[in-house]
Amino acid sequence: MQSWFTFQLDGEECRVKSEDTHKSLALYLSNLDPCFAHYAEHDPWKRSRLVILGSLEDDCHRFRVVDSGLVLLPMLAGKQIWTAQGIQHAEPDHPAQLALQGSHFECSEERLQALRTLMFEGYYRPDLRRQGQINDQFDAIITRTANVPMIREAAAQVFASTEQLRHEAALQAEKTGQESTVWTGRKDIFGDRFTRSLFQLKAQTAEHYVDESKKRFFRPSNLVELLKLKREYPDARIIAGGTHLGMNIKNVSIPNLISVEDVRELSKLIKTEESWEIGAATPLTRVAEQIGRECPQITKILRRFATRPIRNRATLGGYLATARGTGQFSPLLFALNARVILLSENGERDAPISQFYDRNSGTIITPGEVIRSIIIPRHNHMTLADRGISSRLCDTYTSGRRRTLTEPYVSAAFAFELRDRTVAKAWIAYSGIDDIPLRVREAEEFITGKPWKESTVFETLPVLKESVTVKAGSENAGEAEYKMQLVGTLFQKFYYQHPKPDKVLPEHLTATSEFAKLDEPFFDALPD
Ligand SMILES: Cc1cc2nc3c(=O)[nH]c(=O)nc-3n(C[C@H](O)[C@H](O)[C@H](O)COP(=O)(O)OP(=O)(O)OC[C@H]3O[C@@H](n4cnc5c(N)ncnc54)[C@H](O)[C@@H]3O)c2cc1C
Repeated sequence: MQSWFTFQLDGEECRVKSEDTHKSLALYLSNLDPCFAHYAEHDPWKRSRLVILGSLEDDCHRFRVVDSGLVLLPMLAGKQIWTAQGIQHAEPDHPAQLALQGSHFECSEERLQALRTLMFEGYYRPDLRRQGQINDQFDAIITRTANVPMIREAAAQVFASTEQLRHEAALQAEKTGQESTVWTGRKDIFGDRFTRSLFQLKAQTAEHYVDESKKRFFRPSNLVELLKLKREYPDARIIAGGTHLGMNIKNVSIPNLISVEDVRELSKLIKTEESWEIGAATPLTRVAEQIGRECPQITKILRRFATRPIRNRATLGGYLATARGTGQFSPLLFALNARVILLSENGERDAPISQFYDRNSGTIITPGEVIRSIIIPRHNHMTLADRGISSRLCDTYTSGRRRTLTEPYVSAAFAFELRDRTVAKAWIAYSGIDDIPLRVREAEEFITGKPWKESTVFETLPVLKESVTVKAGSENAGEAEYKMQLVGTLFQKFYYQHPKPDKVLPEHLTATSEFAKLDEPFFDALPD
């Protein structure tokens, strides 16, 4: 057990000794140098302090923008951090820095620093090609005073130049049959000082750190070590992305923290003909990156989840374990018929997601257990045909005060498996209604066996109304009534967007051009 560790800060090695295991990177930086003093005032909702984290994820080197106030220092052992100041003063000028010169963005210096990190991450993202992704990239900038069209325009220029670079590198790599390494970001096509040092990072080995007050932070690298540590320290608390724990840790003292971030088996995604198995320590951004193409509903709902810096850290396991009654992802996991795998020294058990949540204790996780993975069935033509299903309609919705960084009122997801035009199986799920997300079995049973048509939807509405009760909470009576209305209107919206069984993709009923353009590239087509 070591009382020190190192990480790279703006290209220099930084040795950390005897610092509290609960200390955030933001607090550490604020004491390190006067130019970082403002990192001390951190609030993830209003004043996030963004930095770039460079690490090796599975077998991919990646830069991710993260909120330094939610990253605990020992999480950084062996990793790299670039601050906005480090990017700003790098020589030669970084394209993200050049793009943000001038005063036409109508932002404070603090906001420009956040923009610099977001632009930097976007510059290196191998998947950033569509209009909608630019919006997501900057969703942490929620101020209405910033000149958002200018930001978007500057970003589109920077990201289009990367696309050109990637296109040329892919043409070169094609000669040796390695173009996929370019498109997946496994090859360093930039060769600048940032990526050169990023690509030197090696797979993490286990790191164990103890601070001056004898609090310990363990970072095992595999499941065997993780379970051994859980046995040795039964009081230990698991930490994954830290977006929940990191926010609340200031007020508590946890003697033993076990990070699952680098547990190999928990960061893997295994794809078979029938399903995806997603390791519990996979951050939400990666979940969308890896299965969002085949399952666009996941991309859709995660676009409305917190902001990119939070999604880059918050893991699927951490999301499930916190069991938020308003979490917007759970209804979709119900509709996709996901299963949760729990692991302890006594072995594994699995539960359908609808049985994973528990009204009294939040979830069914027992003290010796960790979430190992989540299994999501792949509902493609082949797997459906095997079960005699002709089509599966599935979609998800969320309603809140604004697009991101808000507590949703109600989220919903619906899935209908049809045999010809008759409902063979139904999933109707909501969150924001009760302490835990819920599935409305009465309505599902009512609709099963009925034809998929408008009159059936109307007949189901009273059943929904009868079966769902909005839990009286802090909200006023008007808000509870509004939530109750959403239960019915979101269901109707689903029907009108998916009226025909053979048309699986939703109709665009909204007038929002943003949605219509989401899938369009932001650069002109490149020649082959
Ligand atoms: C600014 C902000 C905005 C947010 N917006 C949203 C939002 O829009 N919607 C929403 O639903 N949530 C939102 N959240 C909450 C966020 O989703 C959760 O904090 C996150 O999902 C937790 O994941 P994590 O990996 O960071 O968990 P951590 O903070 O690391 O851990 C949370 C809890 O889960 C336990 N845990 C973690 N992994 C495992 C595992 N594998 N097995 C067993 N237990 C485990 C930990 O012991 C801990 O008790 C927001 C949070 C912030 C800070």
